[in-house]
Amino acid sequence: MDFHYDPQNIFARILRGEIPNNTVYESEHALAFHDINPQAPVHVLVIPKGAYVSLDHFARDGSAEEHLGFMRAVARVCEMLEVEGGFRAISNTRGDAHQEVPHYHLHILAGRKMGPMLVPQG
Ligand code: AMP
Repeated sequence: MDFHYDPQNIFARILRGEIPNNTVYESEHALAFHDINPQAPVHVLVIPKGAYVSLDHFARDGSAEEHLGFMRAVARVCEMLEVEGGFRAISNTRGDAHQEVPHYHLHILAGRKMGPMLVPQG
């Protein structure tokens, strides 16, 4: 798989400070911020700081340090958001999954019943 990273994508611009964001948590390897169009009472995006297009790109080419830093950021965000009642984590990947922003991000959704994992298609 040939992953091409577009440095003009909106999350790259957020990481460079060109666009504001509502930050929840930041560390050396990750940034977490509120989704601009929340789909649940809690809707936070966690992104690695490295230039990775998607989950499979990050999983393949990210370093162990980046992976650990990202996962620890997820843990910290879950603690901060107090999602004891449960949450859904989603990584839409490429066109079939309706990925809109080509910088890897994990959606953390919580604060309401999420319903079934996928809406059945007719
Ligand atoms: P996806 O479809 O998985 O790529 O999700 C992209 C998400 O990024 C959507 O939920 C958008 O609402 C969110 N989003 C787009 N632009 C911004 C922004 N400037 N700040 C925060 N969230 C954003």
